[in-house]
Amino acid sequence: MTGIFGRGHTGTTAPEMPPQAPLPTPPVADEVATPTSAPVPFARTSVPAEAVADEAGVLEQVDGLVAEVDPGSVEVTLGPTGRPLPQFPDPSPVTGPTHARVISMCNQKGGVGKTTTTINLGASLAEFGRKVLLVDFDPQGSLSVGLGLNPHEIEHTVYNLLMDREVTLDDVVVPTGVPGMDLLPSNIDLSAAEVQLVHEVAREQTLQRVLAPAIDRYDVILIDCQPSLGLLTVNALTASDGVIVPLECEYFALRGVALLKTTIDKVRERLNPRLEIDGVLGTMFDGRTLHSREVMERLVQAWGDKVFHTVIRRTVKFSDSTVAGEPITSYASASGGAESYRQLAKEVALRCLDV
Ligand code: ADP
Ligand code: MG
Repeated sequence: MTGIFGRGHTGTTAPEMPPQAPLPTPPVADEVATPTSAPVPFARTSVPAEAVADEAGVLEQVDGLVAEVDPGSVEVTLGPTGRPLPQFPDPSPVTGPTHARVISMCNQKGGVGKTTTTINLGASLAEFGRKVLLVDFDPQGSLSVGLGLNPHEIEHTVYNLLMDREVTLDDVVVPTGVPGMDLLPSNIDLSAAEVQLVHEVAREQTLQRVLAPAIDRYDVILIDCQPSLGLLTVNALTASDGVIVPLECEYFALRGVALLKTTIDKVRERLNPRLEIDGVLGTMFDGRTLHSREVMERLVQAWGDKVFHTVIRRTVKFSDSTVAGEPITSYASASGGAESYRQLAKEVALRCLDV
């Protein structure tokens, strides 16, 4: 494996999460008198959703999970992360000149929802009026395929942009079917860049350099990383202001996260001091299983408020929309999956876009 950190960072022998305290025993009601970010055990009740939302003011019903947080007054709804769920306002309209926030979707494990999150978070932010650029930075080209491109028919790709100084951003950027959302596509050619970049001057800053002209043309740039911590991913992190870590809600998903965090810390120290973790996103969540909920609790214990309140549930609609070559927000606009990504877009906007 290439990259600034040399061998041993490919993720296959990754350590586990930081040491974890045992799961909390159920607190009595007065111990949790105020909403906090600490996970609270789930309890199912028959309280109607609207009643809870009205009385609690800022909280809303999710999956019928509620808990007594304020004894003697109201029952507060818990979100799927086991914390009280805030309501997120619609992002405010963009006024004035833009300066894109660059966010990498990063996890060295494959199949955790990086590409799905890039497409659907991007499409949702575009629905809210943001100008979005997606960067396919995985030689597998799943992002490009997921947006309906044929990988063999792409004339210029991110590879050409990285390696050929004659090729400009405008030569490579293509519109998507989503108004306000463009794409820098990739295909298998990009795998050669990982090897060729090793010989370049400032090899870790190459993506940052070629993305520079896009910064004042978009509000947000989302980079879909490949499942490795090699030189391409280090380039993505060096070009980014923030990282979103999608994590599948199952135990093995937690393996390797400590290594990912070490990599992010090293890039911040050595290459990019502005790099922040924007959030950790639980994906493929199944609220009916204790297992999924326990994984969420562990995530909150380890990452605290970095864990997004929004989680993405497991549904086959995501694979269907990939086959259709479009985001779930247009393929199945009213589906729960589409709504979850819209909520994530609001949470991301509140957390790190609207300052
Ligand atoms: P990654 O980019 O991390 O490898 P993908 O986004 O490509 O992961 O997702 C892997 C597979 O899982 C894809 O087939 C995708 O359609 C599917 N998938 C993604 N998110 C979900 C979800 N919430 N529920 C069910 N399937 C999902
Ligand atoms: Mg992917």
